[in-house]
Amino acid sequence: MNEYDSDKMSDLMQSVNFIRSETLADVDCIIFNTCHIREKATEKVYSDIGKIKKLNRSKKKPIFVLAGCIAQAQGEEIFRRTNYVDLIVGPQSYHRLPELIKNFSERRENYSETNFELIEKFDTLDNLKFSRKSKISEFLTIQEGCDKFCSFCVVPYTRGAEFSRSFSSIINEAKKLSDNGVKEIVLLGQNVSAYKFVDGNKSYNLAKLINEIAKINSIHRIRFTTSHPNDMDQELIEAFKYQKKLMPQLHLPIQSGSNKILKFMNRKHTREYYLDLIAKFKEANSEIEFSSDFIIGFPGETEEDFQCTLDIINKVNFINSYSFIYSQRPGTPAVDRDQISLDICKDRLLRLQNLLGDIQLKNSKRLIGKKTQILIENKTKNPDQFFGRSKFMHPTFFNSQNCNPGDLVDIEISSCNSKNLFGVLHKKTEEAFA
Ligand code: SAH
Ligand code: SF4
Repeated sequence: MNEYDSDKMSDLMQSVNFIRSETLADVDCIIFNTCHIREKATEKVYSDIGKIKKLNRSKKKPIFVLAGCIAQAQGEEIFRRTNYVDLIVGPQSYHRLPELIKNFSERRENYSETNFELIEKFDTLDNLKFSRKSKISEFLTIQEGCDKFCSFCVVPYTRGAEFSRSFSSIINEAKKLSDNGVKEIVLLGQNVSAYKFVDGNKSYNLAKLINEIAKINSIHRIRFTTSHPNDMDQELIEAFKYQKKLMPQLHLPIQSGSNKILKFMNRKHTREYYLDLIAKFKEANSEIEFSSDFIIGFPGETEEDFQCTLDIINKVNFINSYSFIYSQRPGTPAVDRDQISLDICKDRLLRLQNLLGDIQLKNSKRLIGKKTQILIENKTKNPDQFFGRSKFMHPTFFNSQNCNPGDLVDIEISSCNSKNLFGVLHKKTEEAFA
């Protein structure tokens, strides 16, 4: 979501005649868009500010804006810790950037803007021109914030309560993206499956949104991320059965395979519920594959609990996942619980990542010799080589002299490594969508 927000910030700045720079030296304004989800990101901000201070510049100090969730959570403390930051702007009020920068240029007064102004934010973004060429696959924010309050997570505090963007504003943005050459839309939110927008007597959920976007002819693929297992309704499960533009790959974070730890995490679902849900998706579409997020070393996690996590990985056969050592976040309920030693966490993380890697490789090897559909995203630096993704998100490389980014092609997979697939062009398949 920070990538999406950063692009929007760039659009906003260009609407008031700033030009996006490829280098840091001699710019007039620097905006850091920050993440607060784990501690490492926070420390990186201070070290990156240190690096910027050391740059040789011929101009006066740039206006420095700290944006994003660290700005939201630690605004005043940042002003105390460094005098380099001029403006603080949280993730739900960055639409005010042009005005804040103008005010700062005139008055030179530090200012912190951390209100939750989601309606105003999306109204402003709706009227913005895209200031850059779109990629083949683009994000589109449909929902923000979270009401779940998992005991480890800062999102409900930094992004605020669950908010669903209006249906028509999302469809308008999807159309603008398709006019700009986009072929795949990834619907974004902290909890997209909770999307709910009521307009008079009409009510829209995620499945309805997907089906409406699918009506846009030149959009070939739709994905969404991230979901919480508790918000999956039957309509969404069935969308995987009949909506051919919805890719059969679902990122469905479970965090832990142990019911005891899930309870400590306040996840409000069990491993049995999760496995049952996976079975329902598989029943709707036997092709579907899953990925997840895992938190390792959550306070109270024993070796037995950890084994439950390994067990669920084996059961679901996740094709790709993210895993993190638990990071204590100030202000969250879990912060006061007794911590597990870093050595134990590192050891468990390694074992878990090895297992995920083995499964990933085994799954990729199964594709060798088979044909798989790829959406081409770009040319690589190698002559005649293209990069694209499979329906399941596998990064895939192949050679061709008559393809273009945006084409759908059938590739016969010839080899793979732990992350990538390599193949040979079989045929273009775009006509399937004509
Ligand atoms: N809404 C999604 C998660 C969004 S946050 C869900 O409910 O699953 C993205 C991921 O960051 C989480 O899935 C979690 O694995 C990780 N994460 C969040 N807080 C964390 C923390 N305190 N320590 C380590 N990982 C964390
Ligand atoms: Fe954080 Fe996701 Fe839990 Fe919300 S549901 S609190 S975003 S982990």
